Amino acid sequence: MAERKHVVIVGGGFGGIMAAKQLKKADVDVTLIDKSNHHLFQPLLYQVATAALSPGDIAVPIRAILGEHKGMKVLLGNVININKKERYVELEEGRKISFDYLVLAPGAQYNYFDNEDWEKHAPGLKSIGDALQVRERILLSLEQAEQLDDPKLREPYLTYVIIGGGPTGVEMAGAIGEIAKRNMMRDYSTFSKNETRIFLVEAAPRILNGYPESLAEKAQQTLEDMGVRVLTDTPVTDISEDEVAFSEGAIKTPNIIWAAGVAASPLLSALDTDQDRTGRVKVTDDLSIPDDENIFVIGDAAHKKDEDGNPLPALAPVAMQQGKYIGKLIKGEISGEQRTPFYYTDKGTMATIGRAKAIADIRGFKFSGFFAWILWSIVHILFLIGFRSRFRVFAEWMWHYFTFKRGVRLITDRFTEKD
Ligand SMILES: Cc1cc2nc3c(=O)[nH]c(=O)nc-3n(C[C@H](O)[C@H](O)[C@H](O)COP(=O)(O)OP(=O)(O)OC[C@H]3O[C@@H](n4cnc5c(N)ncnc54)[C@H](O)[C@@H]3O)c2cc1C
Repeated sequence: MAERKHVVIVGGGFGGIMAAKQLKKADVDVTLIDKSNHHLFQPLLYQVATAALSPGDIAVPIRAILGEHKGMKVLLGNVININKKERYVELEEGRKISFDYLVLAPGAQYNYFDNEDWEKHAPGLKSIGDALQVRERILLSLEQAEQLDDPKLREPYLTYVIIGGGPTGVEMAGAIGEIAKRNMMRDYSTFSKNETRIFLVEAAPRILNGYPESLAEKAQQTLEDMGVRVLTDTPVTDISEDEVAFSEGAIKTPNIIWAAGVAASPLLSALDTDQDRTGRVKVTDDLSIPDDENIFVIGDAAHKKDEDGNPLPALAPVAMQQGKYIGKLIKGEISGEQRTPFYYTDKGTMATIGRAKAIADIRGFKFSGFFAWILWSIVHILFLIGFRSRFRVFAEWMWHYFTFKRGVRLITDRFTEKD
């Protein structure tokens, strides 16, 4: 009898989980390795950062998702190296895990464009820890503003700068706009909601670059109606603890959030194969790397061109479809099937801007406002993993919608120590 093949999957995000799910009942051994113990629904991180949801609403233990299956193993570990020739991956503590097939789905991280010291002043939203850090900054700032009687002195604490006008920046700016103009402000008596200033800063001439221009304009108008000042053509030149600088002028605030560039996981350089300028690995038609047909790269880590020659966007549906495809490919190959190329089905893009406000582009049909928001809500609820999270998020959203109230407003001191 032929020996069972061993599939190693690095990353339990959207891509890795889909690949593992496909292989649950296959005649292979699977080891999924992730440096955190949970799968995270990143599209809703900004709602944890703005106190609308709790971490447990958008994160589920990977073990709980994959359950008990013969040959399926989940390991908590940071993969630091890949040896293509000897066919193993190496964990930080030195353990080597050999593979027959390797599926790399380690995602991306924020890119500060060689200004690594900006990171501590302007955290990005990538993990639960990041979201809690942003949430704590916002809540602490409001507490500080409450203590200052002079409006000029409290101005920086009521100012928010979001850098990057992509969907994450837009959603974050909209959510802070909601907090500032409505719900949380009622809890404070020293200052008024009109004192809040929110800036969305973008280096390019327009926000939401990957979206149709008409929807981007609608989004900008909606943000401006909510009191967000959108600064386009405004590259950031420096960030310090309490200031963001531009070529002309600066904004004083400790509330700085980075939603600008991303770079693929640094682990990928161990593959010693072609990468694009953001570090994504250039993969072939079946998502394998050019010199090794049994090493695959998927999701945000992969540079895969569509039929028009443009790289597929770094979005959850791309990662999920690629994960599903790879799982099926491996399962099929083991039973003697031929490989077929990967094709992405674009089902549309959407972004929410605030309560009952969103934009959506579904196969060329463009929607904005309440209907787009309903669509956005349904899609996000459906893609959350697990009935419990779906139910809880739905209940939280209904509560916010009808009461205008935010839930989780605890300051825990976890992130307040300065280095
Ligand atoms: C704030 C935010 C908002 C977003 N909003 C949207 C949205 O509205 N719609 C949308 O479609 N997409 C959105 N995205 C993008 C979407 O989340 C990504 O495209 C998707 O997560 C990519 O899936 P992935 O499997 O490639 O990587 P990820 O989901 O990022 O998973 C990577 C996994 O690999 C693990 N890992 C990384 N390196 C290692 C290592 N060395 N060793 C072990 N484990 C490792 C990580 O812990 C993580 O669990 C958003 C992303 C962010 C950050």
